Amino acid sequence: MNCLYCGSKTSVINSRKQRRNNNVWRRRRCQKCLAVFTTQESPDLTSTLMVNQNGAYKPFLSDLLYTEILLALQDRKNCYIEAREITNTVIRNLLKLPSSPLFKPEQISQATAKVLKRFNRRCYLRYAAEHSSLE
Ligand SMILES: [Zn+2]
Repeated sequence: MNCLYCGSKTSVINSRKQRRNNNVWRRRRCQKCLAVFTTQESPDLTSTLMVNQNGAYKPFLSDLLYTEILLALQDRKNCYIEAREITNTVIRNLLKLPSSPLFKPEQISQATAKVLKRFNRRCYLRYAAEHSSLE
């Protein structure tokens, strides 16, 4: 990656793998202006995971999942952070399913409901009310 400021070559001076969300964090330094900045490398789930909706294949949108989870958590103080963590947990669980990387919408709802149920009953019920396939 080139320097954000001057466009020259950069070198990695430190890196760390974040086990929780499978991201790689890198500290880079510009070889010319010596500016330091951080990059994050994460899998592009939109191009990897697919959803089969009535026979049509659509890319999996983690932002959509995040929004749905955020809605279920809306009255909680740290809902933005918690919704992000729950989204990551759901995605990790989805990747372990035998059908991965192809999912049906019900599988995503079920995986989400399972995590929410353990997290908070009110949030789970709010989510379940929006997803009729969870009966
Ligand atoms: Zn530079």
